[in-house]
This record gives sequence, C-alpha cells and structure tokens, in this order.
Amino acid sequence: MEKIKGLRCYCCSQEYSLTEVNYICPKCSGNLEVIYDYENIKKNFTRETLSSCNDYSIWRYSPLLPVSNLKLIPSLQIGWTPLYKVDRMSAEMGISELYLKDDSRNPSASLKDRAGAIALVRAREEETKIITGASTGNAGSSMACLSASVGMPAVIFVPEKAPKAKIAQLMLFGAKVIMVKGTYDEAFDLCMEVSKEYGWYNRNTGYNPFTREGKKTCSLEICEQLKWKMPDRLFVSVGDGNIISGLWKGLKDLYELGFIENLPRLIGVQSELSASVVRSWENSKENDRIDIIPVRSTTVADSISVDLPRDGVAAVKAIKESKGMGITVSDEEILDTIKYLAQKTGIFGEPAGVTGMAGLRKLCLSGEISGEEKIVCVITGSGLKDIDSAMKVAGKPILIEPNLKAFREVKSNG
Ligand SMILES: *Cc1c(COP(=O)(O)O)cnc(C)c1O
Ligand SMILES: [Zn+2]
Repeated sequence: MEKIKGLRCYCCSQEYSLTEVNYICPKCSGNLEVIYDYENIKKNFTRETLSSCNDYSIWRYSPLLPVSNLKLIPSLQIGWTPLYKVDRMSAEMGISELYLKDDSRNPSASLKDRAGAIALVRAREEETKIITGASTGNAGSSMACLSASVGMPAVIFVPEKAPKAKIAQLMLFGAKVIMVKGTYDEAFDLCMEVSKEYGWYNRNTGYNPFTREGKKTCSLEICEQLKWKMPDRLFVSVGDGNIISGLWKGLKDLYELGFIENLPRLIGVQSELSASVVRSWENSKENDRIDIIPVRSTTVADSISVDLPRDGVAAVKAIKESKGMGITVSDEEILDTIKYLAQKTGIFGEPAGVTGMAGLRKLCLSGEISGEEKIVCVITGSGLKDIDSAMKVAGKPILIEPNLKAFREVKSNG
C-alpha cells in the first residue's frame, strides 16, 4: 500500500514491510505500529478535502487507515459519534470547557466497533474464512455484530463472568461463542493457540497491529469536531491500553500531517483494582525502560479488567510522550460516576465507559485541574451493556397501588 511504509516494533524499533509479518514482532514479540508515508498522504488528503467529504463515519479518514479495498467495508455506520459540549457539568466541576465524546453511539454500543471494523476489512482483504478474537465482552460483541453484517463467521472467546447483555449480543449476532472457565487473560491465551492451530484471522488486542488504527479514528474525529483546536487534556479509561495508544496514534498522525499544531496530554484512568498500566507508568517515570507489571484484577468494570495489559508498552509510551499521567479510581467512584454522568448529561455509560470521567472528577476534586482548561473525556461504552452494575447505584422506584389516593400519599411524603 502506497500510504503505508511498514510496521515498527514498539519495543525493539525493528521495522518490517507489510507483507513480512502479520501480527507481532518476530524478533522480540513486541507490538507493531503502522508507519504511514505522510508526505505521500498529504498530497490528496488535507483539512480542505476532509471538510468537503460527506461520509460521516470512520471511513472519511480512509487515506490514514490500513485498508485498501473500500468495497469490503461493512455498511453499518461506525464512528462520527457525537462530541457534546456539556456546560452544566463543566460549570459544576469548575472547568472552562468540557466535551464528552459519546462512543456508546456505535453499532454494538462501544468504541470497539472502530477496531473491529478495521480487523474485519483486513480479514476480508486476505480472504480469510473465519475471524476469531478473545474479549472481556465488547471487542467480541463488536466483532460478532460487524461480522453478522457481512456474513463472516466469527469465533469469540469470553470469560465466564462477562456481563449478560454482552453475551446476549454475542449469541444473537450468531457468533460461535466459547465461554472459558477462567479470566479474560486465559481466554486470550486459548484464542491465540486456536488461531495458530486453525489459521484463522486473529483480531486480538495487542497482537493484531491494526485494531489500534481503528481506535485512533476516535481522536481523529475529536480533532475535526473541535475544528482542529486542541484540548489541553484528554481523559480515557485503560484496560489493555489499545484505546489510549490508538488515541495517541491518531493525534500524532494529524500532527505529522500538519492538521493540528499542538498535542494534548493524555490521562489514562484505571480502576485501582486493575491498575497495571498506571503502576507500570509510575515505575517508568524516571527512566526509559518500560516493564509491564501484571496484577490480579478484580474490578467491576469488566471491560478494563485485565491482569496483563496486552498493549501496555504502547499505552505507557502514549502517556509519557504526551506528558500526561496515569491515575486510578475506586470501583465506588466508577459506579457513582455512572449516575453522575447520567443525571448531568443524559449519557448512560457502562463502568469502563465512565472510568475516564471518574478520573477527571477525582482530579477536579483534588484541585488539580485549572479553571482555564479545555478538556475532552471519552465515554467508551453504553450503560445498557451492564445493567447489574448500573442497578447498584440507580436506586429503587416507588411502587404504589394504581389509584390517585396512593399517589397523593406518596406525594405528601415528598
Ligand atoms: C475495551 C474497552 C476499554 C479499554 O480499552 P483498552 O484498549 O483495553 O485499554 C474501555 N472501555 C470500554 C467500554 C471498552 O470496551
Ligand atoms: Zn521487536
């Protein structure tokens, strides 16, 4: 592909051509980054050409995406999700400008559709018969959804404890669902073995180098929606670290192309019960070495419940290069933020979906956000995906007999 120079390892910096490797670095098993030929891309892709493009989906950025045959893209609308300016909330939080990127508004109701779309098109370009992946729930339900839309068979590995709604999505979209008696990490390892044994296309996060390219479209959109005027900080939840490294990749692409003049700081937020990326970032602050330290994850935020982050090095690099930070919040803060966000903005997020927001609230409360800042926070998945968690903070409705007298009694009690 003319627009792509090749792939580069995040760990040992070795470069490869696109045809040389499919997944990770053969030398050190590090994750690979797609390297674009910006000079070439610039010739036909500018802020002006974009502004006259009327494809409002991730495919408006196809000159910056690792796909070549646009006839193979699914027809479901992926991306170009709303970026809301939430003035009532920012006033209350003491922030001058706050925007929320609502990525629950994707076909399968999470940001993962951005990644799944790229993986699906690449699988189809390679004429793969079957696509497979392991997932805490959302990556799988997204893959199942997009695969259903084009008739591609999908085999998805999920941990037994995945929320019911995500299992329902997986089953209904017709994927072959293999439920693993174990954690996400165990499902991931099994999926790796299976895809090697059967030669299936593997979309696993932090193994397939192209999911990050899909996720970067979220920051491409944010920049365009902000008319290329950058925020000071960008908050997002972190599990495997593929979203945050994707957001950073998108920002760097736009910077290289000259679409934006400065780069925001990335704030990666994790549950303190699944904080491998934040701990690894803390440990690598003073030096160049990045060691990813695994944890035993127990957070309720299932989508970011990860023992060993599969894209941890790229995630820590994104935080460091952007001069950002990693922070943790408690599960209580996450659940409380579901309610806060819902009641202040009308946006309903799942636990991992609002974790970035929970981090922003925490920094605001501790006075670490200046009133002058312009901030964007990504809401990564819909609250309807995990009703059990939402019900923990939703409260109970008032139950009455169906007559006016009963209502008057309730009313008189406030
Ligand atoms: C996958 C996911 C995340 C975390 O993304 P990583 O790439 O694993 O860091 C956050 N929120 C939701 C809703 C997700 O599905
Ligand atoms: Zn390497």
